[in-house]
Amino acid sequence: MKYIIVLGDGMADEPIESLGGKTPIEYADTPAMDRLAPLSEVGLAATIPDGMKPGSDTANLAVLGYNPQKYYTGRSPLEALSIGVDMKTTDIALRCNIVTLSEEEGPYEERTIIDHSSDEISTEDAAVLLDAVKEVFENETYHFHVGTSYRHLLIWEKGEVVDLTPPHDVLTQKIGQHLPQDEKMREMMKKSFDILNHHPLNEKRAAEGKNKANSLWFWGAGTRPALSSFYEKTGKKGVMISAVDLLKGIAVGAGMRNIEVPGANGGLNTNYEGKALAGVKALLEEGADFVYIHVEAPDEMGHQGSVEKKVKAIEYLDQRLIRIVAEEMDKSGEDYRLLIMPDHPTPIRCRTHVSDPVPYLLYDSRKKSGQGLLYSEANGKKSGILVKEGYRMIDRLLGE
Ligand SMILES: [Zn+2]
Repeated sequence: MKYIIVLGDGMADEPIESLGGKTPIEYADTPAMDRLAPLSEVGLAATIPDGMKPGSDTANLAVLGYNPQKYYTGRSPLEALSIGVDMKTTDIALRCNIVTLSEEEGPYEERTIIDHSSDEISTEDAAVLLDAVKEVFENETYHFHVGTSYRHLLIWEKGEVVDLTPPHDVLTQKIGQHLPQDEKMREMMKKSFDILNHHPLNEKRAAEGKNKANSLWFWGAGTRPALSSFYEKTGKKGVMISAVDLLKGIAVGAGMRNIEVPGANGGLNTNYEGKALAGVKALLEEGADFVYIHVEAPDEMGHQGSVEKKVKAIEYLDQRLIRIVAEEMDKSGEDYRLLIMPDHPTPIRCRTHVSDPVPYLLYDSRKKSGQGLLYSEANGKKSGILVKEGYRMIDRLLGE
């Protein structure tokens, strides 16, 4: 028996008027899921424990079977693992975004945050800009590490877990009230604007019509994580396929192998087919029992507030990834169980994550009948199945 999770980050949503009152999942053309769903168990899972924030970190930990209340120590420590940074127990890791702020005359605090991703800046461009700030800020207390695209890492030696605001939660707002209380953090963000706004690379980006990557933004502080081994926990050899450092870090922490897929970039035009085939190959040829295929695109399109692109992301996920996984597994003759779900909703309405339970689809290739429901938020509810502790979804997948 082989086990697969396809995680469409943030794909759950709410009914949207411009889609005729349908959600993006309901509206999207998804022949692969439409074929599997009626034969499957469709239900809801609460991935975010009460009182915790609906992050991709807490939610993906839960989907992989780690109770966030027990294992979560912050987002960026997980990303640090993926970059290969070995944290000391006294280190604090912080996510260091490179973001786009407005450029009008006046104080830093009065600026507006325009884009948390600087137009999904390339890692190469980001590395050049990070070098420029590193030259000024790096010392025995603060260490910068290049991650991927707009997502980078600051290690604060003997620091503390300070409360910080995720930039994607305050898009289009004035930044003053969202800046760190910590004096030094605030000062570094402020100065980074002076260093970056007129950096030659940013002038070039502006000339090309791209958003300038003109400020650092720190958030997601946390201490070194200690996950238990996925293999010891489940007896299954697992692999992770994701473009996102957070997921790769969770995999490192859980002792799972990361598979790098060329062209997988966390964006709308990621290499869906490559991820599907890499997952199937890991299961059928490389001895893996379990594969977690994570696709960031629906979440990013939700943050961008683009209904059309979010629908497109779900269609690509279905037609270019889920279809291939199911067809190739069917062809192989191996029995398999396939769980399709998001980690959390990222509704277009609010352009950020919410804590509502998410719909899941659990398909078992041995079963030829199910509830007869299509996969959607409403049908998850209609089924009457609610998995209250999301971290137990993995038991449902691996259970039989
Ligand atoms: Zn997410």
